[in-house]
Amino acid sequence: MTAQVLIDNHHRRLVRAGDTVFLEDEPGDTAFFVESGQLEVSRGSGDELFVLAHLGPGEIIGEMSLIDASPRSATVRALSDAELSVIDRATLNQRLQLADPLVQLLVHSMLNRLRAASTQLGAKERRASLVEVVGEGREADQVSSVHQSARASADIEARLRLALERDELELHYQPIVRFDGGETVGFEALLRWPDGEGGFHSPFEFVPVAEQSLMILDIDQWVMRRACEDALRLRCGGSKPYVSINVSSRQFASSAFLDTLLQTLADTGAEPKHLQIEVTEGAMIESPQRAMEVLRELRNMGFKVALDDFGTGYSSLSYLQKLDANVLKIDRSFVVQMRHGRAGATIIKAIAALGNALGMTVIVEGVETNSEALRLRGIGCELAQGFGYSKPLPIEAAVAWLNKGPAQITT
Ligand code: C2E
Ligand code: CA
Ligand code: CA
Repeated sequence: MTAQVLIDNHHRRLVRAGDTVFLEDEPGDTAFFVESGQLEVSRGSGDELFVLAHLGPGEIIGEMSLIDASPRSATVRALSDAELSVIDRATLNQRLQLADPLVQLLVHSMLNRLRAASTQLGAKERRASLVEVVGEGREADQVSSVHQSARASADIEARLRLALERDELELHYQPIVRFDGGETVGFEALLRWPDGEGGFHSPFEFVPVAEQSLMILDIDQWVMRRACEDALRLRCGGSKPYVSINVSSRQFASSAFLDTLLQTLADTGAEPKHLQIEVTEGAMIESPQRAMEVLRELRNMGFKVALDDFGTGYSSLSYLQKLDANVLKIDRSFVVQMRHGRAGATIIKAIAALGNALGMTVIVEGVETNSEALRLRGIGCELAQGFGYSKPLPIEAAVAWLNKGPAQITT
């Protein structure tokens, strides 16, 4: 008897106690993740039946056939009602393409070893199906480029960890300025990693590497603490600017995020009103419901919350209204488009109108010239950030910037 399928929406399968999930020698190209219930794995039948294992929640079964398309090497039955998640080959390949380069390298290496072992055993059919999984003869090139990028990432990661441990990272502050009158209302904290030759490694290169490993959590925590300390230094004079912190999706999704933030405030003496938390739409995608709850809590505690890189994601308009963000940061790419005479200005105007209608403050990023500033101010944007006003500054220079009076664009 085959598994009695109560629900099979291609991703989830419920089997009843006594049902067969799959039979020995059956062809198979799916694996199953056990969500609940108990399964028995056996070989043979009748008097010759050998029970090989019992499996429970959190375990995977059928993975060999998924990887090498060979027939099932055992029979699996449900000992109790069980809920299984179905993993098919297309899903596996899709995930592999998205995975961290190091994980891809490990999987490719394991497949290569398995292939070598299969070849040695003379199992030519197995070899053919493995080649199919890895990619029709392109596997050598693929493995070599995966290998290279995994090594590059591992190298950046190791050096970045060292820089963090040696306290070599810096936080620079880019002014956020009111178009009207030039008051500096805040600063965005931007991470800087000195390259040893007088310049800096680009965060666009190393932040994604840190995000693929858990290191981004340590870095974000370091940023949080330093930003809180510096927020107090920036408020020493007459003006009361806030410091805007970039929170990675991973940190935002971590259950410890709010506790760590509150602990950092307690340790440093900073207050929620001194900070703005910047999140991108990416942080909302994995778990929108939880993301909304965290945003609401942040707002309730008194933090300003900004949606960063607005307009570059997918889901913005549908739940912008439901999100408890009070600031919208329009991505720099629209100002670049405006500069080239394309639809940028129209899009910025539409986003600003939407933000204003929802009671949000609109910041435009990447303002480089006075004529851009005049145009953007005319289409409903309140605040500006860009090289035209100032590049990100080390803390001492940011403190000095505040003493210079209203910001002006000189270009
Ligand atoms: P972002 O959050 O969109 O930051 C704005 C980026 O635009 C910064 O690049 C800033 O220097 C740059 N920028 C600002 N005004 C102008 C302008 O007028 N012209 C041009 N060409 N660029 C301008 P940066 O510092 O290289 O940071 C890149 C990205 O790295 C950031 O994008 C953010 O996603 C990430 N990042 C930076 N610091 C942190 C951090 O502390 N934590 C996390 N998680 N991510 C960070
Ligand atoms: Ca940002
Ligand atoms: Ca941005």
